[in-house]
Amino acid sequence: MRALRPWTTILVLAGMTIGAGRTTGQPSAPSTLIRHAQVLDGSGGPARRDDVRVAGDRIAAVGQLAPVAGERIVEAEGLTLAPGFIDTHSHHDRGLDAARDAVAMISQGVTTIVVGQDGGGTNLAALFARLESQPVSVNVASYAGHGSIRGRVMGQDFARQATPDEIERMKGLVQTEMDAGALGLSTGLEYDPGIYSAPEEVLALAKVAADAGGRYISHMRSEDRWFWEALDELIAIGRTHAMPVQVSHLKLGMHDLWGEAEKLIGVLDRARARGVQLTADIYPYTHWQSNLGVLYPKRNFSDEKETEFVLGHVSLAEGIIFNSFRAHPEYVGKTLAEVAKVTGTTPAKTLMALLAEPGGPSAGIVAQGMADADVERLMQWPYGNVCSDGTSTGLHPRGFGSFAKVIGPYVRDRKLFSLQEAVRKMTSLAAANVGLPNRGRIAPDNFADLVLFDPAVVADRADFGKAQAQAVGVHTVWVNGQVVFQDGKPTGVYSGRPLRREKAPRVPAVAFVRDPVSSVVTR
Ligand SMILES: [Zn+2]
Repeated sequence: MRALRPWTTILVLAGMTIGAGRTTGQPSAPSTLIRHAQVLDGSGGPARRDDVRVAGDRIAAVGQLAPVAGERIVEAEGLTLAPGFIDTHSHHDRGLDAARDAVAMISQGVTTIVVGQDGGGTNLAALFARLESQPVSVNVASYAGHGSIRGRVMGQDFARQATPDEIERMKGLVQTEMDAGALGLSTGLEYDPGIYSAPEEVLALAKVAADAGGRYISHMRSEDRWFWEALDELIAIGRTHAMPVQVSHLKLGMHDLWGEAEKLIGVLDRARARGVQLTADIYPYTHWQSNLGVLYPKRNFSDEKETEFVLGHVSLAEGIIFNSFRAHPEYVGKTLAEVAKVTGTTPAKTLMALLAEPGGPSAGIVAQGMADADVERLMQWPYGNVCSDGTSTGLHPRGFGSFAKVIGPYVRDRKLFSLQEAVRKMTSLAAANVGLPNRGRIAPDNFADLVLFDPAVVADRADFGKAQAQAVGVHTVWVNGQVVFQDGKPTGVYSGRPLRREKAPRVPAVAFVRDPVSSVVTR
């Protein structure tokens, strides 16, 4: 690892006032000039040695720029400047009000998180109001969550299809969330209560999002046994409503599916070729994180045959690690195989016994379900952007490591794709896939969300056993023009904003003829 290059901040002739506005690149307020950086603008094009001027919350100019009086200078020779990274599937909103510096995110260069995932987003008006009165260091956008809305309408009586009247009430709630600024509708169809919905219910609710100019993002109905059918359901929504649809945390989550990445990419590409606006996000790990109950799509927890199937095909007993378990805190950090040794029975019997306990199905687990080669191949799909699916606590390292792991091990060491492609996948593609304008590109008038990093040094340090270890190699992070991270730590500046969907009239598209939510909803 090479030594970190010290960078300097110089204030030129402080106090002088410069006239003119943003468009000329001659700002009237004190501005910052980031000089001599290797600029990756997020488009996927090659780096250019350029200067970038930040004025207020925006990028004022890009090019060969002379300093102006009163300007702060950041000497960035040898470092790479990119748009701040956008995490399109995040659970980092948990606990963010108590840890407003968002260190897991900004230490990796993430400047925007997109929450409300897996069907979980609700009451966005209140969320956004809170982020305005009590801001944090990252921007926050959100989807409206199908599961939350279904839970509000159906209460505890959710294990059935909804009536037409209930669907009408859900549509009203989706509309309310869209009016509050939701990016679209998210579903978590492997979870209660979403798993009990008929495809027609989801289709009807997605239309409300589509008509409001929003989109659809989904933790699909199956990531293992009925994976292909679940993907068909998502594609059908995109085709029927001519709306953008995104697969959350794309994965082949079952041993029987391993090695089918090429086939999957073929299915995705054919749908796009037919005009479906289909995209995905993906995180760089072979372990998912969820709860015990999700292993049983029929919720037949005492079925011995099903249990044998789970442990033979979905995740081995050695690969299931307990992340949280209210009834058994002593099991946290242990694998199911290790717990079975303690209890003196087989892993299958242990699993069924734990599921029969109060809170058993919602016990948090991290489980190995994917093959490394598939993750690598799927991550190369040009329409797949990087996400974390992460939190700032727990055993899974993805919350602190996803973005750094892609830039370090995946790009620099394994050379899966170029650095400029990695940055595109974290910035402009991510912004496009969730519908965030004016971010994800270094261009005049865009918001000044920026990350300055050393691509030779960036690496994740988080791993199982030290999941909250901070990534290295990121020098400075700006959010809306203000420095939120520097010298390896947060600055305590909370310049993040709530990002509400911009209400543009729906672009006419081609017609194609046409809290009972689980406590841990990730995966
Ligand atoms: Zn999920």
